[in-house]
Amino acid sequence: MTAEQLGVAEIAAWLREAAAVVRAQQARLTSLDAAIGDGDHGLNRARGFDAVERLVNFPDHPVTPGDLLAQAGRTFQQRVGGASGPIWGIALRRAGQDLGDRQTLEAPPLARDLDAARAGVVEIGAAAPRDKTMVDALAPAVDALQKAAADGLPSDAVAPSAARPAEDGVRATTPLLARRGRAAFLGERSISHQGPGATSVALVLRALAGTICAAPPRLYGDE
Ligand code: ADP
Ligand code: MG
Repeated sequence: MTAEQLGVAEIAAWLREAAAVVRAQQARLTSLDAAIGDGDHGLNRARGFDAVERLVNFPDHPVTPGDLLAQAGRTFQQRVGGASGPIWGIALRRAGQDLGDRQTLEAPPLARDLDAARAGVVEIGAAAPRDKTMVDALAPAVDALQKAAADGLPSDAVAPSAARPAEDGVRATTPLLARRGRAAFLGERSISHQGPGATSVALVLRALAGTICAAPPRLYGDE
């Protein structure tokens, strides 16, 4: 699928693909969280996206992209525990609210939308860049997306430009000391481990690129 205009079908396809990717990587997310947390991140993500997939597959699923994202956010808030459930919930709800009742979106609203998600995450989680949280994948992705959108690229070209910086952000979490979330309790022992929450953000952004691009980017792990 290529999509310069993202409508509810494309957003639904993205969420389905994200659910598939998260399920495929559940064990990896679990083991990353077992190293510096409590080992439930794979389960939390899978539970959330399984519920979102049911929402998307429901025949009467919401008819605008904004509604779909907002309902996906509420699903996370209702179904997923841990720190990341409410944080993902607010991210998706803010993204949905930002879209309002627009039927389709192009690159600039997509970038604004993810920026609204980032702002929600920072508002409730208070994490700064380099605190070794999901912000370390989300923030560089949003920055790149905004730049690509400002350069006038269409959404099927800007989505890959978000996936790569997210993956670079994930890699950059490894040497960091965690300053937020459960991993922060480990202090120096959190160093030399890849951040689980950043990893799952990058997977979901990669699912976006894979869903709406004619030629999805080659990313780490494909090589
Ligand atoms: P919990 O830590 O409650 O078990 P999860 O394991 O599902 O929740 O998620 C852990 C991830 O949540 C971390 O790897 C981190 O990326 C993210 N996280 C934790 N606290 C915050 C925060 N305050 N802001 C942003 N992300 C956070
Ligand atoms: Mg955990």
